Amino acid sequence: YFRRRVDMSAFSILPKHKQNPYHIKMEEDSQGNDETRSFVLTHLSSYKVSALNCVLCKTVLPVFDRYPMIDGTFFLSPQAYGENVVQVISDGRLQFINAVCVGCLEGGSDIRCAACKKKWDGSTLLLGTMYSYDIFAAMPCCQKRLTCKHCRRAVVDVNTGLSFYSEYSRMITCPYCKAYDYHFIRPMSDTFVVKQPIWN
Ligand SMILES: [Zn+2]
Ligand SMILES: [Zn+2]
Ligand SMILES: [Zn+2]
Repeated sequence: YFRRRVDMSAFSILPKHKQNPYHIKMEEDSQGNDETRSFVLTHLSSYKVSALNCVLCKTVLPVFDRYPMIDGTFFLSPQAYGENVVQVISDGRLQFINAVCVGCLEGGSDIRCAACKKKWDGSTLLLGTMYSYDIFAAMPCCQKRLTCKHCRRAVVDVNTGLSFYSEYSRMITCPYCKAYDYHFIRPMSDTFVVKQPIWN
């Protein structure tokens, strides 16, 4: 049902030192028993989805049956950042499988924080697999990204931050207004300003 990858040319835009299994997830065992992979493929096939769009530049990303599963990365978020995302239940919570292409992760599109305009850098993320948290919320660049969705006061101090990338994707209580929400996850227009590369 899913495509079989014929070569690794999709990753040739990476600098040479990143074209290896430390930066691109490769198949580990011959049986192919892998929870993350079955999670993604099972959900996508149940919706008859064999390709997703990059939520940033809209490029079509075919899904492959083995690692690396995509020319970019998948990530789970309670936010659907694009129209063409897949809804799942994970850990009892409603989530969406979003996708970002390798070009956007490597800085090929101009992606800036909607608040402070700092350029977003996804180049440290592992390619070809799925993150179980929101990669856009995981590396907050300014205090605005850490405010309460309801009262707009600081839920977490940007200088202190949280210990784990995944913590920004959890529901937490605002210390001021007590609102319990995914405070650091917002719709695309409140997260990034995306400028398409001119060659697209
Ligand atoms: Zn993209
Ligand atoms: Zn910012
Ligand atoms: Zn609040």
